Amino acid sequence: MFSDKTVENLKSASFIRAMFEEGNKLRKQYGEENVYDFSLGNPDVEPPLAVKEAIKSISLSQEKGMHKYMSNGGYDSTKKAVAKMISHEYEMDIPFTNICMVTGAAAGLNVVLKSLLNDNEQVIVFSPYFAEYLFYIRHANGIPVIVSTEKDTFNIDLTQFENAITSQTKAVIINSPNNPTGVIYKKEVLEKMAAIIAEKEKEFNSHIFVISDEPYTKIVFGKVKIPVLFQIFKKIISINSYSKSLALPGERIGYITVSPLIPDDQLLMAAILFNNRTLGFVNAPALQQRIVELCINESIDPKIYEERRDVLYNHLISLGFECLKPEGAFYLFMNSPVPDEMEFVKKAQEYNILVVPGRGFGLSGYVRLTFCISMDIIKRSLPAFTQLAKSYF
Ligand code: PLP
Repeated sequence: MFSDKTVENLKSASFIRAMFEEGNKLRKQYGEENVYDFSLGNPDVEPPLAVKEAIKSISLSQEKGMHKYMSNGGYDSTKKAVAKMISHEYEMDIPFTNICMVTGAAAGLNVVLKSLLNDNEQVIVFSPYFAEYLFYIRHANGIPVIVSTEKDTFNIDLTQFENAITSQTKAVIINSPNNPTGVIYKKEVLEKMAAIIAEKEKEFNSHIFVISDEPYTKIVFGKVKIPVLFQIFKKIISINSYSKSLALPGERIGYITVSPLIPDDQLLMAAILFNNRTLGFVNAPALQQRIVELCINESIDPKIYEERRDVLYNHLISLGFECLKPEGAFYLFMNSPVPDEMEFVKKAQEYNILVVPGRGFGLSGYVRLTFCISMDIIKRSLPAFTQLAKSYF
């Protein structure tokens, strides 16, 4: 009776929803403060003060026309501010006409996929992955092709990547720092990827685009540096978001950047602007664009997350759990101590600990924990993890 495709998608989207419902049940039963919910990536960090001040001053402005429709790509002044900043970051002159302001990375991904894909073209996604990618690709009538990463390091397996490329491959999505693993891809690996793409494009006489999903680029720990992707890939489109970097996920603001090295880049921009409108986003919110412009150099302090990572990671490792230390983002992808991670997820619930099964990200045998929750909850959860560990080690 309803859309078969959506009903089918709903079934595979059930893991995080199930955790959410379980969380609500436990909170009702034991009280908010006694449930250690590591399942949802909804940051508890507040936006920088400058953002709140910008909201106040913009919303009280008497200037006329502040709330009108605008060009679908957003205000020129906002795009110019963004272009100046990223030209520096990407070490390349990015014209403001290659930027489209969007309502967050989720919208940006949908708009870009819709602009690139013909029916049944393939998009490579590395597992474990942000589960929504599969739905976005299917919305654009594409076919997701899942490629495994290297065991336990979650680095890109170049052989598997090369073998997965076909004449129908149109794009590959990369996400670094990564949700759910916290991995940051190394420059050497990305350069090899670029070489493989160039070879395959020649072999198939095709175009393969790199879609870089970048909501976590401001959350990087220690001395680690993110390689400059625009210097490595020629046909690259990046999608940035202020959901995490300014802690504004509910406000929905981000931007798409199309590399000026893409042949016919302005036709692609026209397609992006068209799809931004016709997918129903129309344009990114006026207020949020002005905030971005006023707060162009602002960011949350990644140290907040680094401290939380250290407390959680060190405790889990000391108990005998195995896990790669995340270099960025705010997730830990931990090995389940038993092969079936669903069994572990249920056991953890007995101690009011909520984690998401790895199969929700396309990789069984692991669980994901987010440390974007408060340090207070993290610290109070530690004895519960100690008790949980006693069942296994
Ligand atoms: N991509 C990844 C990897 C994410 O983790 C998220 C949100 O958690 C998004 C995209 C969507 O972010 P936004 O809030 O900017 O739409």
